[in-house]
Amino acid sequence: MNSIEDSLKRVQERIGKACERAGRSASSVRLIAVTKTVDRDRVYEAIRCGIRDFGENYVQEAKKKIEGLPQGLTWHMIGTIQTNKIKYIPKLFDYVHSVDRWDVMEGLDRYGKPVKVLFELNLSGEASKHGTTEDGLKRMLDAIHTLTHIKPVGLMTMAPYTEKPEEVRSLFHTLREIMGRVNKEFNLHMHELSMGMSSDFEVAIEEGATMVRIGTALFGERQ
Ligand SMILES: *Cc1c(COP(=O)(O)O)cnc(C)c1O
Repeated sequence: MNSIEDSLKRVQERIGKACERAGRSASSVRLIAVTKTVDRDRVYEAIRCGIRDFGENYVQEAKKKIEGLPQGLTWHMIGTIQTNKIKYIPKLFDYVHSVDRWDVMEGLDRYGKPVKVLFELNLSGEASKHGTTEDGLKRMLDAIHTLTHIKPVGLMTMAPYTEKPEEVRSLFHTLREIMGRVNKEFNLHMHELSMGMSSDFEVAIEEGATMVRIGTALFGERQ
């Protein structure tokens, strides 16, 4: 097994270089360590290396893991949200990156706890990817004033897997443009762009990512 410390150093170097190329400060990018299938001991190791932001895809897995770990970490829900699991999310997670439909927003709002949400957009049109469209996003924002606890902070997207990250640069660029447009139209101040994974995070940073979600490059291939 690789050492998380070494992998982290390499990832941080690559983040640093991408920020330099984009004329951004390295502190403007938050590294979210994606720990789906990663056991608690490895999460502890990541905590010892200084990581504080963790992303999980599955509510059940996250619930078990989070309950055995120290407080003071920031948890990000990044996976597809099943309607019958919504009720667990506000208590477990600080950010929800994968909001793509109205009933999720309504469901999250119901638990009386503030939730920071990012809207997931499907920009590649791949049927296998979740996410809404720009129009779908606008319809949700039209009604968001009826909710009390939902705080919209940004947008998220997942690009198709590629070995040539340049091929997905335009998707990241588009996500940033959409955030600019809807902020203006709805008088919002969303500022987070959650985009970039192990295979494409440098290009995403060059296009304005403020959160990169990285699993494989830190923890190795998943089983
Ligand atoms: C698994 C996952 C990641 C991390 O992917 P890697 O390629 O392992 O870095 C990021 N975002 C989402 C939504 C994921 O499901």
